This record gives sequence, C-alpha cells and structure tokens, in this order.
Amino acid sequence: MAIRRIRVFPDPILRKKCRVVRRVDDRVRVLAADMIETLDGAGGIGLAANQVGALQRVVTIHLPGDESAIVLVNPEVRETEGEREIIEGCLSFPGYEGLVKRSVSVKARWLDENGSKMKVTAEELFAQAIEHEIDHLNGILFVDHLLAHEKLVAAGTLEREDEPHMHDVELEVHADHSDDAIDDERNEPDESDVEIVQSTIKFSDLYSDSSISQMHYDLRSAGYVIDDPDPDPGPGRQRHNGDGQNRVESDDPHLNGGVLLDPERRN
Ligand SMILES: [Zn+2]
Repeated sequence: MAIRRIRVFPDPILRKKCRVVRRVDDRVRVLAADMIETLDGAGGIGLAANQVGALQRVVTIHLPGDESAIVLVNPEVRETEGEREIIEGCLSFPGYEGLVKRSVSVKARWLDENGSKMKVTAEELFAQAIEHEIDHLNGILFVDHLLAHEKLVAAGTLEREDEPHMHDVELEVHADHSDDAIDDERNEPDESDVEIVQSTIKFSDLYSDSSISQMHYDLRSAGYVIDDPDPDPGPGRQRHNGDGQNRVESDDPHLNGGVLLDPERRN
C-alpha cells in the first residue's frame, strides 16, 4: 500500500465523472488499499478515487469507531429518506467546512473489494458519507450543497467531532520478528520479537504545497470564506513548519520518508 497525494479544489479532476468499474480485479484492490491508507493517514471519513487522481467509481469509507475501512465499488443510492442539516468537511478542502443538507438515511448498494454485492440501509454519518462520496464520483463537491458562499468557514469554527488531521500524524508500527528466529525453542512470543517503529505521515505527504496555496486563492476569489477567524497559521501552512522535526529516521527500507510502504516493495 502507499499514500497517494490528495487532490484539492480547484483541481479539475474533482469535476470529472468517474467511470464504472467493469471488473473488481487486483488493480482495483491496489487502488482501494492505497485509498484506505491515504484516508486513514489523513484521518478522514471518506475518500473517492478521483480525489487521488483515479477516474474509477471506487470509494473508501472509515467511520469513527469502526475497526477498519470499507471499500465501495460502483456505489449507488436507491432510495433516500428524510433531510437534515449537518456540518461537513472534505479532504479536498483541508481546513474548511460548511453546513449542508443530507438525507437522514439512504438505501445503497455496491460491490466490495472481492466483487460481492453489498446492500445496506445506512443512517446518519454513514448515509452522509455515502452521499458525499457518490457526489465526488459524479464531479459534485460539498460546496455545491452550501446554502450560500458564506456558509463555508475555517474548520473548527463550527462544532464538529470528526476533524481530519490537520497536522503530521504519528503512527506506531509493530514489526513482528518472531518468525525470524531460527533456534527459538520458546512457543510464547517474546516482547523482544516485536519492534516498535514510530512513523510520521506528514501533511506534505498527503497534499502538495502549491495545490494548498491555489485552493486558498481560488476559494477567496470565488467569494468563499469571507473572513479568516484563525490568525494562526492555517492548516495548509502549519504542516510545512517544523518539517522533519518529528520524523524518525530509520534504516529500514520499509519506511520511506517516514511513510509506511507495502512490505512487498522491500525488494
Ligand atoms: Zn470529499
């Protein structure tokens, strides 16, 4: 797996319609695995393939509290129920959020990473995530649902629990070497067999500097974000400070630039 660069507004790929996946094969699974790593690295709830530059109808969703993310290939909403106003953010608008209208529940279906048919009635945050991500696949962004331009504000202004990471993220990586020992007669795993490697996913691994500056510029030119309530360095800027400070150097080729890569890429 690998972290992929997240495209931010106004990257034109965010306005493109993604293509239906004809066959759920290994290429789709690799894309999905990368998307999950990127999503989790950013601390987001959902990610659509065009947000990482792939024009395929693939979405990953990781709800807070759930152990792992799910993969939705060719997701479709069949039915919606109710309406509610809810604060929403997007990994393609890091540092911003706004009030939008979403369904209370949706009946949705998709294919999972093995090509199996899935069908759910999703509610609340899950329903919101499904609607938000399917919008992405159709080139629609959450700012299109805002009641007015002024409704887009700096993140943190509105109360919201599920903030994505706006800073570098420390990950604890456990490397289990218990199988490496040749003359190990013990059956029980020894703590010394488990090496804990600290790794940092940096904001700059997730986003490019130039795309963030362009996003701020274009949002302001389009009349969004009339005032900046945060006089401190905003999310887009703050990660570039202290570059490398929290980084743990490692000789392990497994760790490339502080980002955990696929173990299979060691060779
Ligand atoms: Zn989004």
